[in-house]
Amino acid sequence: MNSNPSIPLVDLGAQYESIKEEVLAAITDVVESRKFIQGPYVQSFEEEFAKSHRASYAIGCSSGTSAISLLLEALGVGAGDEVITSTHTFFATAEAIIHVGAKPVLVDIDPTTYTIDTNQVRAAITSKTKAIVPVHIYGNLCDMAELQEISTKHSIPLVEDAAQAPFAKQGDKYAGTFGQGATFSFYPGKNLGAYGDAGLMFARDEELALKVRKLRDHGRTEKYIHDEIGYNHRMDGIQGAILSVKLKYMEEWTKLRRARANQYRSLLDTSKVTLMKETKGTEPSYHLFVISCENRDEVQTALKTAGISSGIHYPVPVHMQPAMESFGYRKGMFPISEQKAQSILSLPIFPELSIENVERITQIVNRVATSQ
Ligand SMILES: *Cc1c(COP(=O)(O)O)cnc(C)c1O
Repeated sequence: MNSNPSIPLVDLGAQYESIKEEVLAAITDVVESRKFIQGPYVQSFEEEFAKSHRASYAIGCSSGTSAISLLLEALGVGAGDEVITSTHTFFATAEAIIHVGAKPVLVDIDPTTYTIDTNQVRAAITSKTKAIVPVHIYGNLCDMAELQEISTKHSIPLVEDAAQAPFAKQGDKYAGTFGQGATFSFYPGKNLGAYGDAGLMFARDEELALKVRKLRDHGRTEKYIHDEIGYNHRMDGIQGAILSVKLKYMEEWTKLRRARANQYRSLLDTSKVTLMKETKGTEPSYHLFVISCENRDEVQTALKTAGISSGIHYPVPVHMQPAMESFGYRKGMFPISEQKAQSILSLPIFPELSIENVERITQIVNRVATSQ
């Protein structure tokens, strides 16, 4: 038996304990006011979240996945169009592109930052390309200067998938404020997690904001007047109220994530494990702390034996998913993503993770890992 307490990949219980009273009071407010769907709690959260990122317009919705498809549809992306994104992402990015009828044109990643390879983006542009969806994977930012140049040159909008990147920064600009639009996920395990499903979109201009607002709520402008065919992709009041409570702590929590990441960086033996390179000028939000080594499975087993959880994000790249078969992708097309899928391991990272536990984890990794 191991005498050390176990360490989860993410500890939502510890966070709840620290804000319990405020969260329960917020839920009670919503229940007593019965503003369950959209309404004032969602609107307040939208305004606060936009302000926290210095974004123009924020529109809450039902999930990170619906946020991507709503934004693409509002930008006019549809059947027969192509949307470029990276194959090294959570499946939802590609799924949302397919939901609007478009084809996800997948490209590989930069081997050091894990973000979309901008040379491959350039090469993938055709007359059918109607959007580019860069994913700020793990909370590291894509090369936005390069992507903005491509976007401007070809007049193709950028929609940032910032699901993992709230409060990530490049210079003094926050993730989600580089493109025409951006999307966030408040899935419970994300950095800013709701207590259910929720998501949000940023829109740079008012016209786009109005369009996505309408689409998320049955295409209506008045209660029973529907201008177009929309969706029920709304955020609910309880989630809005909980997110407003948590938002107040996000700068602090993100700082703690970065501090833990820096501690990992100083303690891990880089002759044995490869660490993600932070994109130049970026302060990542460290949704995940990902290492790469030759014997990943062995390291994961050793951690598990010591009661330490770890994860693989993600074990199968999008182009190799069974559901993607009809798009004509094959194994071997994106070698960097495929190689990473075999060698990456996500170590525990969350604001409440103790310094002692980071030490415990790194000792095991340094002892077991072998270099690539
Ligand atoms: C979580 C996530 C999504 C989907 O968000 P949901 O809220 O779960 O629908 C999309 N893209 C990325 C990169 C994610 O991590």
